[in-house]
Amino acid sequence: MKPSEVIDLIREGNEGFLQGKNTEFFKTHSKKQCPMITMLTCSDARVQSSVILPEPVNNIFCIENIGNQVSNAEGSLDYGILHLETPVLLILGHSDCGAIKAYTAGYDQEPASIQRELNNLQPAFVNIHDEIDLLGRIRKNIDYQVRVTLSKYSEKVRQEKLAILGAYYDFANDMGAGYGKLHILSINGKTV
Ligand SMILES: [Zn+2]
Repeated sequence: MKPSEVIDLIREGNEGFLQGKNTEFFKTHSKKQCPMITMLTCSDARVQSSVILPEPVNNIFCIENIGNQVSNAEGSLDYGILHLETPVLLILGHSDCGAIKAYTAGYDQEPASIQRELNNLQPAFVNIHDEIDLLGRIRKNIDYQVRVTLSKYSEKVRQEKLAILGAYYDFANDMGAGYGKLHILSINGKTV
């Protein structure tokens, strides 16, 4: 698509969004945000906050980077958890994650900026078997990012002010429970 075509779609898209909203909707959050979820997920275009809640506006503080990594988003995460005090931190991995595929296949041809971010995945894959499949690797990464945040925010978890969820958005039916299903894998590090 040409940039100009996309720009037209952006304008039209916002017009469509506004048709479903009145002034009252915006007044509820025009001065302050009060999300209930801090979500750390992958930048992948197939993963959007609207798959979690039908109305993400003012409900989801959404942080995205390649591979849903804590280490590449620490300030944003602290903002959601320490300032906005959302009661839930959702760490969301997904089907067919390009970051995990790139990490597995090798990425030394990538620009230094991309290499730097992918390098931070390394601790997620310590002591794993070579034959572990893509789903297994994506889950290892989710588990690792959950462990990091459980350590960072341990006091809030202990006080039951925060629940940390590890989850998998399965838009490819990798787990056989249907396309588009969100699987909550763990709560505060305990498998569910
Ligand atoms: Zn991804």
